[in-house]
Amino acid sequence: MGKTSKYAVVGNPVNHSLSPEIHELFAKQFNESISYTKIEVPLGEFDACIEDLMNNEYSGVNVTIPFKADAYKYASKASSYARQARAANTLKFQGNKIFAENTDGPGFVSDVQERLGFPLQDKTILILGAGGSVRGILPALLDCLPRKVSVANRSVQRASELADEFGIQSILYDETGSEQYDLIVNATPTSLQAKAPLIDPSAFEGTGLAYDLVYASEPTPFMVVAKKGGAKAVSDGLGMLVEQAALSYKYWTDQMPETQPIYEKIRKQISKK
Ligand code: NDP
Repeated sequence: MGKTSKYAVVGNPVNHSLSPEIHELFAKQFNESISYTKIEVPLGEFDACIEDLMNNEYSGVNVTIPFKADAYKYASKASSYARQARAANTLKFQGNKIFAENTDGPGFVSDVQERLGFPLQDKTILILGAGGSVRGILPALLDCLPRKVSVANRSVQRASELADEFGIQSILYDETGSEQYDLIVNATPTSLQAKAPLIDPSAFEGTGLAYDLVYASEPTPFMVVAKKGGAKAVSDGLGMLVEQAALSYKYWTDQMPETQPIYEKIRKQISKK
């Protein structure tokens, strides 16, 4: 083992994050030594925190709510996915330079297409929510050439602005039952509030996959409503969490971890809680 590289996840709140466990398991696969901590950053202090971490010889950070846009702005150079999302979930420090990447999109795509075996090309897709995770997902999702992507959001204006920016369609929650979707993605935190989003349940008839970005020890309220409404398969977002983390690890170290065993291990761990 060489020198211990230092990483962290920065956000607010950050206490619930599984990133330290996941990254330590990745490092073990390569017989590498890393330290990975959780840092809760007060609002308005993101830039100062990053400067401090660079001074303390950290190699990079994951960035979570609410700092992904700040991370993109603060970086010296950003990848194409980070530029399109105008948000970054991964920063790499090299000398006095900061490189930004957004692995949420490719992480989502990889979980859906590879682990769940659900190709996205030519599919009709509905996304619920228009926040940071949707900005992160859309560039990689659109690269897969879906037939049509629609977005519905509680604040209608936010959905229509996002739709204009990415060349997709925005619809109202009330209109969600008027079309058939191959894939429905819940990108709202409603499952954390023990609620399902206000989608018309008939929207799930014939849906191949209903995917909740939130992960939990049990099927989320969205997954339950989707299954009841006729969705053929449902999934929570744990696979995306592991895939986006693996892509961050690769961005930092040039080594791509094997994700399936880590997914299984973390799944077991959260179901025990
Ligand atoms: P944001 O705060 O940026 O956006 C939240 C979105 O959800 C907004 O569109 C908001 O609508 C909508 N929303 C919030 N509360 C409700 C509600 N009660 N009813 C209907 N809509 C609501 O969050 P993110 O997009 O960053 O994250 C969304 C979820 O995805 C979070 O729970 C997060 O933990 C999860 N996530 C999971 C990842 C994974 O790897 N599995 C990665 C990234 C995120 P409005 O615009 O009207 O406020």
